Amino acid sequence: MNEINPKISASSASVAGKSFSELPLSPAMQATLQQLGYLTMTPIQAASLPIALAGHDLIAQAKTGSGKTAAFALALLTNLNPRRFAVQAMVLCPTRELADQVTQEIRRLARSADNIKILTLCGGSIMRTQVSSLEHGAHIIVGTPGRIMDHMERGTLNLEALNTLVLDEADRMLEMGFVDDIAYVAKRCPAQRQTLLFSATYPDGIARLARQFMRNPQEVKLREQHEESKIRQRFYKVENDDRLQAVGMLLKHYRPVSTLAFCNTKQQCRALLEVLHGLGIHALTLNGDLEQRERDQVLIQFANRSSSVLVATDVAARGLDIAQLEAVINVDVTPDPEVHIHRIGRTGRADQNGWALSLCTPTDRNRIITIAQTMRIEPDWHDLSALQNDDDTPLVPPMVTLQILGGRKEKIRPGDVLGALTGEAGFTREQVGKITVTDQYTYVAVARNIAHEAVRKLSAGKVKGKSVKVREL
Ligand code: ADP
Ligand code: MG
Repeated sequence: MNEINPKISASSASVAGKSFSELPLSPAMQATLQQLGYLTMTPIQAASLPIALAGHDLIAQAKTGSGKTAAFALALLTNLNPRRFAVQAMVLCPTRELADQVTQEIRRLARSADNIKILTLCGGSIMRTQVSSLEHGAHIIVGTPGRIMDHMERGTLNLEALNTLVLDEADRMLEMGFVDDIAYVAKRCPAQRQTLLFSATYPDGIARLARQFMRNPQEVKLREQHEESKIRQRFYKVENDDRLQAVGMLLKHYRPVSTLAFCNTKQQCRALLEVLHGLGIHALTLNGDLEQRERDQVLIQFANRSSSVLVATDVAARGLDIAQLEAVINVDVTPDPEVHIHRIGRTGRADQNGWALSLCTPTDRNRIITIAQTMRIEPDWHDLSALQNDDDTPLVPPMVTLQILGGRKEKIRPGDVLGALTGEAGFTREQVGKITVTDQYTYVAVARNIAHEAVRKLSAGKVKGKSVKVREL
């Protein structure tokens, strides 16, 4: 029987700041890490890499943005023989988006080794194309469980040489109902292999899943420790009927450029979106009903600061890594203190301060007590009536997103768009924000006051020697 070892709970302090040079990695890999600016290990890397590199099965839990990808990527790349042209590692991810992110990170880490082929297999792409790519061979597969299962059933994916199986974002895959698919895939992988499971939270289902196909896994859990100084947490008393209007009051008072607003249900997300739009606030929502392209567009507009508020449930927001977030608003308080901690940990990243604002009705009181006990804090209570709402200037995002018809397929790169805007069109670098190239479209954020002119000049001029169609999103 497979048992789970007693937990190794590492505190960030005991493992922070260790150098990768302590690990048994090749000199080429050490050099790549240096080039990428990975100078010290993140706490989850320091806690999990020695175990993973020693060949043990591993369950690792740490919050979003803590560097879990590199932790398993270094392990699977160490197990890989580039001269053997067969699938040796496979990573299961919940969504195409996350599979793309993982693929990119593995590519970056694998760049010193020559010719390692990584293939992404997700639903929504054409099966036939994937089959022919598989026929050409690959060392590493990254994909979603459903599509990988399809390939296994059709016999188009040979896993005989597999030595490393990774489950990334395991909590989210469970929430999305992938349990049976994961078990199907895992049970058909060679028994002689290493299995690594990574997760942001640790619901009960994980241990149950792990017991089915992991061998004597070691467990590493990193409790979230927010740097108190960076996240300023306030609790506002509110009556249930006033909850949604109160979000508008908080936004008008604190005036954050980017806010992630958490609701407990999809219905609440929809209701809040309507209220915010009614107040003239630029808000978007993420939910499971969106098509992939719509989802991409929501995330792009929010991340490039051309939308003020992203309204989401915990499920919809899981795994999102947004660099700059001035505020997190808990529109509804969550019953799970770990979820609360995870939510507010999205703000106050890097060197920035962040606000964590929670709206609490009298019936939320018990939840707040549990959260306060778990976080070992004394809740800082405030009254909505104390908010100043005399500033009548509307809350407007600083940027506008322009959509250019044409993307990776047309070989457009971010530099081409930046060149077109700062060259002939005559704008400054500071007026141009984030540029994101997808298969068919390129999105560029520009300062709000130049948006119309930028559309006009881009449409009249050329990008990569060709005329392009451009519009404001
Ligand atoms: P997670 O999977 O835990 O949410 P990611 O693996 O996506 O986190 O990593 C978050 C970010 O941190 C990425 O941009 C990654 O490139 C960066 N990163 C990872 N490890 C290190 C490191 N040791 N030093 C500096 N940056 C790192
Ligand atoms: Mg991750």
